[in-house]
Amino acid sequence: MNPATASLSRKDIRLSFEFFPPKSAEAEGQLWETAIALSAYAPGFMSVTYGAGGSTKAPTLATVRQLLTMGLPAASHLTCVGATKEEVHAVVAEFQAVGVKHFVALRGDPPGGVGAAYQPHPDGYANAAELTAGLHGLADFEISVSAYPEKHPQSADVAADIDMLKRKVDAGATRALTQFFFENDDFERYLERVRKAGITIPVVPGILPVHNLAQVQKFAGLCGASVPGWLADRLGPVDDRPQERAAVAVELAIRQVSDLIAHGISEFHFYTMNRATMVSAVCDGVGFARIDRQRATGAAA
Ligand SMILES: Cc1cc2nc3c(=O)[nH]c(=O)nc-3n(C[C@H](O)[C@H](O)[C@H](O)COP(=O)(O)OP(=O)(O)OC[C@H]3O[C@@H](n4cnc5c(N)ncnc54)[C@H](O)[C@@H]3O)c2cc1C
Repeated sequence: MNPATASLSRKDIRLSFEFFPPKSAEAEGQLWETAIALSAYAPGFMSVTYGAGGSTKAPTLATVRQLLTMGLPAASHLTCVGATKEEVHAVVAEFQAVGVKHFVALRGDPPGGVGAAYQPHPDGYANAAELTAGLHGLADFEISVSAYPEKHPQSADVAADIDMLKRKVDAGATRALTQFFFENDDFERYLERVRKAGITIPVVPGILPVHNLAQVQKFAGLCGASVPGWLADRLGPVDDRPQERAAVAVELAIRQVSDLIAHGISEFHFYTMNRATMVSAVCDGVGFARIDRQRATGAAA
């Protein structure tokens, strides 16, 4: 544990954890274990991704429902690509029926993948700002949205990105979760521009402890994030030694989070890859307080 920050209490820090719907019975068991383990940090919410075009609707719904049944604060991602407004509303009603009150509202990638041209459905929501407004009109949902410290690959420039974030906030979003990044300076610069644009909602850094360097490099290339040379230089040499690789990845993530805390950031969204070990090691290493696990998961767990 980092002695400088050893007593970071739940009052000081707010955490959230992102999962994806499991694809097998074994993966499902691992996810519940992960969720229970991470509930020890009293997260504000645990969100579950939703495949663009509704490809994971049933598994996302099942995952969110199970987390809620376990007494955990589940939120659902929701995308609007390829759907009419009515179809989106029907999905929202299904999630609402199992108790979802918090959505991460996203446009989603085009069916052809990140690089393909985006074609809004003629009867659908054209972007996440419109989706946010639509959700806001349906019920009193908590709505989080995306943000891109290194710019969304489709955006002409950072100004266009920030303009879209402003539209999402004006439509009712109360929190932005960022794409993962590794250079805190990129985030600080972005945040400064966001604040200058009059956006005051929390912009929560997305933290990705690196499980697999090659996978992260590939994904980063697709979503417009960069993997700095120093990160590859540290992780590359230990790539075939899983324990050392994990130790280095944890050390780098602790350093990143601790530096952001030193710069006044108090909320963090972790991309967990459905695994608890590294994220817990980062949380413990930074000094985030744990609570009693039984209290965290409630009597239903
Ligand atoms: C925290 C987080 C969670 C995510 N979860 C999921 C998930 O669960 N499922 C999933 O499928 N994807 C997910 N994504 C990825 C996301 O769907 C893609 O990045 C998608 O391409 C954009 O969705 P958005 O909501 O960010 O779009 P928007 O906020 O609508 O737009 C993002 C940016 O792209 C630009 N843009 C949008 N449309 C156009 C256009 N037609 N032409 C030019 N520029 C345009 C805008 O300037 C804007 O700044 C997530 C991303 C983040 C950061």
